[in-house]
Amino acid sequence: MGSITIVSKLDIETYKGNIINNEFVPTPETRHSINPATGKALYEVPVARKEDLDTAVQNARAAFKSWSATPFSERANLLLKYADLIEANRDQLEKLLTTEQGKPLSLSHTEVDNALHWLRTFATMEVKDEVLKEDDEKIVYSTYPPIGVCAGIVPWNWPILLGLGKVGPALITGNTFIMKPSPYTPYCDLKLGELAAQVFPPGVVQVLSGDDNLGPWITEHPGIDKIAFTGSTATGKLVAASCAKTLKRYVLELGGNDAAIVCEDVDIDKCLPKIAMMSFLNSGQICMLTKRIYIHEKIYDEFRDKMVEFTKGNIKTGAGTEEGVVVGPVQNKMQFDKVKDLYDEIERSNWKTALSGQAGEFEHGYFITPAIIDNPPEDSRIVQEEPFGPIVPLLKWSDEVDVIDRANALKSGLGASVWAKDVKRAERMARQLSAGSVWVNSHFDVAPDVPFGGHKESGIGMEWGIEGLKHYCNSRSLWVWKRVFQ
Ligand code: NAD
Repeated sequence: MGSITIVSKLDIETYKGNIINNEFVPTPETRHSINPATGKALYEVPVARKEDLDTAVQNARAAFKSWSATPFSERANLLLKYADLIEANRDQLEKLLTTEQGKPLSLSHTEVDNALHWLRTFATMEVKDEVLKEDDEKIVYSTYPPIGVCAGIVPWNWPILLGLGKVGPALITGNTFIMKPSPYTPYCDLKLGELAAQVFPPGVVQVLSGDDNLGPWITEHPGIDKIAFTGSTATGKLVAASCAKTLKRYVLELGGNDAAIVCEDVDIDKCLPKIAMMSFLNSGQICMLTKRIYIHEKIYDEFRDKMVEFTKGNIKTGAGTEEGVVVGPVQNKMQFDKVKDLYDEIERSNWKTALSGQAGEFEHGYFITPAIIDNPPEDSRIVQEEPFGPIVPLLKWSDEVDVIDRANALKSGLGASVWAKDVKRAERMARQLSAGSVWVNSHFDVAPDVPFGGHKESGIGMEWGIEGLKHYCNSRSLWVWKRVFQ
């Protein structure tokens, strides 16, 4: 064990252990991830054992008593102090994020910008009691006490934003928190734990890095009261089944296959750059991107040709450290193989390509260049499955009712958008889309004070916004009879 001292600058190359009760706790076994742009091994990190989790849970339970009783203003001040400390170390964190995740440095900068904005906004969001009814005899409130010990299971595509997007709401509502990063991207989250240890009381924020055993140990643990999970739909179902054994609360943020419906009256030159960027950002590895683009048949050819031209001219593939890169390497071998298989499917299924990207063999990094599929059949894999890579299908539509049915036809329902000059029509169409976030003339807008979640198999419950914060609370109806003894 080693205590954590306040440092002026984070050392991003040294990992002394998991962050348990504000101390470094080393493990007998260690492991490493790789830099996806070079294939080179990164630093050794701990492999948490079951007993490390037990200790963290005990500490979190002990800390819950005083943390849940700490006034909102004090919790908010500490959250702001934490944001300041992260900001003071943002240059190293951004460099580390690009190194472990692969995304361009500019996107790492955006991720940290957002994470800071998220934390600072959560610090202003108090879940207050609501008076449901009041008369001379009684007053009835809804009150929102924290649930207890919460655990966050984080994916590899946005380790900082999605990690802190759980830490902030958990802490501000009075819970204690254990974070489990993805084994593919443990580094930034461990460093966020080190920084948290310099701000919060022991046991309030702990970070455990481990292997594939750790997630199931967490979801089964009887001392954990809630799981905040972000990841694939398949894993989400395992998490739900595991939580059922102890009736743990859970929120699941899962995969998506968002439709973007482009109407015939759009100004193509104005909306296309955003739609194209929203197809390839983070190499397509974002839950809410334009993954099925339905274009009205009257403008289909022009839109397709301009999208190809734009992509060729503006969407550069390369290492995240290179200037001007939009598409960094795919993050890991599992995802690289999955996306490569979809590229192989182009020939197998005879799909027409408007832009034939390249998914070659792994040489130094997991690089795949963008592909645009030209009006494939609706039942093809590229339409039905979430690719999570830089490949997108364009599809033709002519009838409004039909395109809404096609957009809603899948089991996923994370995001969806309608693009049109006629905003009233677009809003009318948008209101018929079954997704947790729907945009008119935009895609992928998110904010800390706006709830975010999925319909159908894209998730259960919401994160962020007051609604998301309430998912970190129990709902308690409090009946106060005023006159009984008078
Ligand atoms: P994943 O489901 O493989 O892993 C997510 C996390 O779960 C990781 O930390 C992993 O270690 C852990 N895990 C794996 N098996 C587990 C188990 N049995 N029990 C408990 N935890 C377990 O997902 P991924 O590949 O890291 O992320 C990509 C997927 O996540 C995509 O489908 C994407 O759409 C989705 N995603 C959704 C959102 C959202 O907010 N809705 C955001 C980002 C990514």
